[in-house]
Amino acid sequence: MAERVLGFAEALAEVLRQAASVAVPGELELVALKEATGRVLARAVLADRDQPPFHRSTRDGFAVRSADVGRTLRVAGSVKAGEVWHGTAVGQDEAIEIMTGAPLPEGADAVAMVEHVVAGDGSVRLQEGRMLRAGENVVPRGAEARAGDSLLPVGRVMGAAEVAVAASCGCAELEVFARPKVAIVATGDELVELSPAHGDKTAMNGPPGLLGDAEIYNSNSYALAALVRAEGGFAGRLKIARDTREDVWERIAQGSMWDLLVLSGGVSMGKFDLVEEVLAEFDAEFFFTGALIQPGKPVVFGRLPKRGGTAHPQDGPWTGEWTYFFGLPGNPVSTQVCFHLFVAPLLRALAGRTDVTPRFVEARLAEDVKGGAKVTRFLPAELVSAWDGVSVRAVGWQGSGDVAANARGNCYCVLPAGVEAFARGETVRVLLR
Ligand code: AMP
Ligand code: MG
Repeated sequence: MAERVLGFAEALAEVLRQAASVAVPGELELVALKEATGRVLARAVLADRDQPPFHRSTRDGFAVRSADVGRTLRVAGSVKAGEVWHGTAVGQDEAIEIMTGAPLPEGADAVAMVEHVVAGDGSVRLQEGRMLRAGENVVPRGAEARAGDSLLPVGRVMGAAEVAVAASCGCAELEVFARPKVAIVATGDELVELSPAHGDKTAMNGPPGLLGDAEIYNSNSYALAALVRAEGGFAGRLKIARDTREDVWERIAQGSMWDLLVLSGGVSMGKFDLVEEVLAEFDAEFFFTGALIQPGKPVVFGRLPKRGGTAHPQDGPWTGEWTYFFGLPGNPVSTQVCFHLFVAPLLRALAGRTDVTPRFVEARLAEDVKGGAKVTRFLPAELVSAWDGVSVRAVGWQGSGDVAANARGNCYCVLPAGVEAFARGETVRVLLR
């Protein structure tokens, strides 16, 4: 099998190229607005009418004709939010008391804030020296949106801001894309699945003797499932694949029926790293078989032809569809870094999102960091957002197996290849997670 190891930028570009062309799998779903957070719009939300639907007062005060400013005005009535003024239009030297959110009465063209007037008995007057322009403290009808305008496009993720827009347009239900189904497969002879028998280990070490001396818990499947869910996917943890050709084959056959297959472990150069060669047996197309990054260099990305066999999934003709796969290095920090860099963009695209790229920001280094690596590095780090600036500090770690250090951080500090040293105060890129 031909190796294809790409630089970081090229590898990311390859993922983004595939992301741009994937079809969103599955049927559309109708969800209640209150259940819609995190879902992706399959139908745009349109303004159901002009927003605001009337000239809206933005202040408590007095609706007036701006031309009358400076004179004492007779208060002819009062209008509150939820009411329409049905009296005669505001005439010369007249004012109507008005509350925030109420429609501006006919004849008026501005609102004088209650804080800015001197009120008399049935009369009101702007304080000495104050000005009032036409349109002040009023948002004209349709200024925010016209009826029929697209306010939330297809592909937008529903967050609180989007929920507010949908609710303001009366959308109690939304049409969203189905969640892509992601099969998660951990590989390794050393892995032990968590089970209730292992007890609650949050407070103290669990009962002894459940793990052999060389065994470890399968943490990657849980981390990956959490990451998949956070990106809007449905996560299915398949059985651990042991480091045998048969087991890896079995699990890939199973996973190839899903929308996306994410494997961890078994992609390095070891004698029992079988994932790539078994993928090749499934006629995999490899987009890359490594990326010049640390951690995560052995990461593999490609796609498998989906076959339509009834007895066994691998029998039968190609259906014309693909299952994308990632083979992530098993070291837990590598697994997670590779997820953020490569899996998340593709998964977002499969979920129907249009904004898929990893999120990078810039921050100042809080401490010197050694450079000199030949690959792009992603160090677990802590981003500190202070009022006077955003800084980033690498957390100490023991390398890509150090899940605890990874959890002490909240981001990854990006160190480009070939730079000898990074000094405190320098601006560096940060990968958010
Ligand atoms: P591999 O990529 O299979 O060579 O594994 C690299 C390192 O990651 C080894 O130390 C493994 O024990 C560890 N590892 C692999 N898979 C997992 C997993 N699912 N959960 C936790 N650690 C893992
Ligand atoms: Mg392994």
